[in-house]
Amino acid sequence: MNLEDIIALDKADPLAHKRQEFELPANTIYLDGNSLGALPKAVKTTVAEVVTQQWGEDLIKSWNSHNWIDLPIKVGEKIAPLIGADSGQVICCDSISVNLFKLLSGALKLNYGRKVVLSTSDNFPTDLYMVQGLSELLGPELCALQLVAEQNIEQSLNESVAVLLLTQVNFRSGNLLDMQRLTKLAHDKGILVIWDLAHSAGAVPVELDKCDVDFAVGCGYKYLNGGPGAPAFLYVASRHQAAVKQPLSGWMGHAAPFAFDPKYQPSASINQFQSGTPSVIAMSALDAALDVWQDVDMLQLRDKSLALADVFIRLVNGQDCLSELQLCSPDKAAQRGSQLAYSHDDAFAICQALIEKGVVADFRAPNILRFGFTPLYTSFEDVWKAVATLATIVETELFKEQGFNVPLKVT
Ligand SMILES: *Cc1c(COP(=O)(O)O)cnc(C)c1O
Repeated sequence: MNLEDIIALDKADPLAHKRQEFELPANTIYLDGNSLGALPKAVKTTVAEVVTQQWGEDLIKSWNSHNWIDLPIKVGEKIAPLIGADSGQVICCDSISVNLFKLLSGALKLNYGRKVVLSTSDNFPTDLYMVQGLSELLGPELCALQLVAEQNIEQSLNESVAVLLLTQVNFRSGNLLDMQRLTKLAHDKGILVIWDLAHSAGAVPVELDKCDVDFAVGCGYKYLNGGPGAPAFLYVASRHQAAVKQPLSGWMGHAAPFAFDPKYQPSASINQFQSGTPSVIAMSALDAALDVWQDVDMLQLRDKSLALADVFIRLVNGQDCLSELQLCSPDKAAQRGSQLAYSHDDAFAICQALIEKGVVADFRAPNILRFGFTPLYTSFEDVWKAVATLATIVETELFKEQGFNVPLKVT
């Protein structure tokens, strides 16, 4: 593969024009949109307007006049088509961790009599921590976490399991689980399923309704580009909404919050899953960020995502000096999300050197270099330059310099 082939790929890319909708720093190749999405230009103007006009001028009237009160539903409805959900099932609120607490509690209650929450040992830790916290609260007789390897999920499904908690795309390896098949197998044993879409919403086509999923959570600040700490979202299938209850019964989830009734009465809709007052500025940023998806075909996005990763792998394989990098993501493209993981003993230092040379990737303990591909703003030429930089760093052993070996709080 040479630079001409790469340029031809960019020329033929039907999503190439989306890049101009993002604010991208000069001389930077950003392969970390799976951790913090880039800034859509529209967000800058919207946030300025929300702060200056809505908050600054219109003050409290804005809850009605600018519909602040409906933002969680409005933003949820914008996310819904990206994850294959019909109207009325998605709401934007809180963080994934908090939303998991609500859904885990609700699902355990629906499946009363069973106590096991089955998940995978290399799931994103917060998902497991939330189960552990709930287990502390409820006691082991009502909630017990059981962990298995990803390849052993199927054989571990049995009638003692109340809830199957899975992340669709593994945050480290990028392994993509078969949502339809696993949900069906779980349902056959009476198990409710919660899917974490942190690395799949906006990265791969997701079909929650079609897969008959019960519950899901997902992230606003990764592929959805809502900004640092953007609110998350949750999905509750319509068929469960009448029966399921969540314990963080704050006033925003009440059937009539402004009746100020001393007795809690949950909203009959997905609104029940709100707790307190929404974070209006942050949610407005996510609201504006979601507009970039309006004309995006998720199948085209998937094609480009796989093509970017394929080019990356081929370019790495073509460099002798990179032979010590081991691909830890699945070989088969269809089994991957939108990221690649490589192991290397010096992964941390290599990552620091890459960042210094303008290629932003990230490091995941203990020895993983992670490259995320965000098809809306990553070009094939970016991939070409990233691998060339990586090769130079490894070949010249630049990463061995002292400065690249200083530990950081956030990696
Ligand atoms: C990023 C991520 C989270 C983040 O959770 P927050 O509570 O929103 O910070 C959760 N789960 C997975 C799988 C993630 O990748």
